[in-house]
Amino acid sequence: MPEKYDVVVVGSVNADLVVGVDRRPDPGETVLGSDLATHPGGKGANQAVAAARLGGRVGIVGRVGDDGHGALLRDALAGAGVDLAHLAVTPGPSGVALITVGPDGDNSIIVSPGANARLTPDDVAAARDMIAAASVVTFQLEVPMPAIEAAARAAASAGARVVLNLSPTAPVPAGVLALCDPLVVNEHEAAYLLGGTAGPEETAGALLRSGPRSAVITLGADGVVVADAEGTTAIASPKVDAVDTTGAGDAFTAALCLRLARGDSLRDAARYATRVGAAAVRRPGAQTSYPTPDDLPA
Ligand code: ADP
Repeated sequence: MPEKYDVVVVGSVNADLVVGVDRRPDPGETVLGSDLATHPGGKGANQAVAAARLGGRVGIVGRVGDDGHGALLRDALAGAGVDLAHLAVTPGPSGVALITVGPDGDNSIIVSPGANARLTPDDVAAARDMIAAASVVTFQLEVPMPAIEAAARAAASAGARVVLNLSPTAPVPAGVLALCDPLVVNEHEAAYLLGGTAGPEETAGALLRSGPRSAVITLGADGVVVADAEGTTAIASPKVDAVDTTGAGDAFTAALCLRLARGDSLRDAARYATRVGAAAVRRPGAQTSYPTPDDLPA
């Protein structure tokens, strides 16, 4: 185990099972689709791979099943250089995302959490040395809240910076929210938290007042808004030809965490992360689209 990690991700590891369809079946109906494509995914694994590909020292705390998908998922993480010492294997199925892609590229997704749902505070306790050796510990909400809560508290008490990506949306205990520096949400997640239709800068301010130490709202091609005690700052994203936006938010969050771990200010880290998010939309897929440092738009 390395002495120090830039980023430790506590999160989900899923196999993405993707089929293209001309149209989705009605209840009781069967339609034919394209060949099945199986890709490594899950927000936690995506973020771990993205941060490792950018040169970070990265560990993951999570669970996969003892099925074929579990082996594929471990291989994908290991191939990117992610430390798997605390990726446990649970009897039963791995997490999977069942994804249909319509003719316009629109996704419909059902996530079956599988092994991810078995991540417990005991797993977090077993990984405490890894968490304590991290500069930044980051979470999404595809694993159970008790594990996230235990890990956020362990990270904060060891002096690590806590970053939470509120995806998919779910209620977060106030005690966890108060540790987030930053809380990262996209526009839909911000609307879930706050309701209303205020502009992004106003929304970022409201998000900050809801409890985290700092807040970042991602706005797709429009970049991000950052809010903290210094105020609210809009940061544009580089203009690129977008091919597939799958996993852009994960690439953004991973890059943000890595740059924060390396000592950047929140604004500088967010500026770098918009370049990584933009790079990720230039190629299809999630992990397959993630850039190395040599592969970033200006
Ligand atoms: P999510 O995937 O969570 O919905 P966003 O779509 O907001 O997240 O994307 C995250 C970041 O990726 C954005 O803040 C931006 O920096 C970058 N990004 C996403 N889509 C584009 C795009 N079409 N062009 C340029 N950058 C993009």
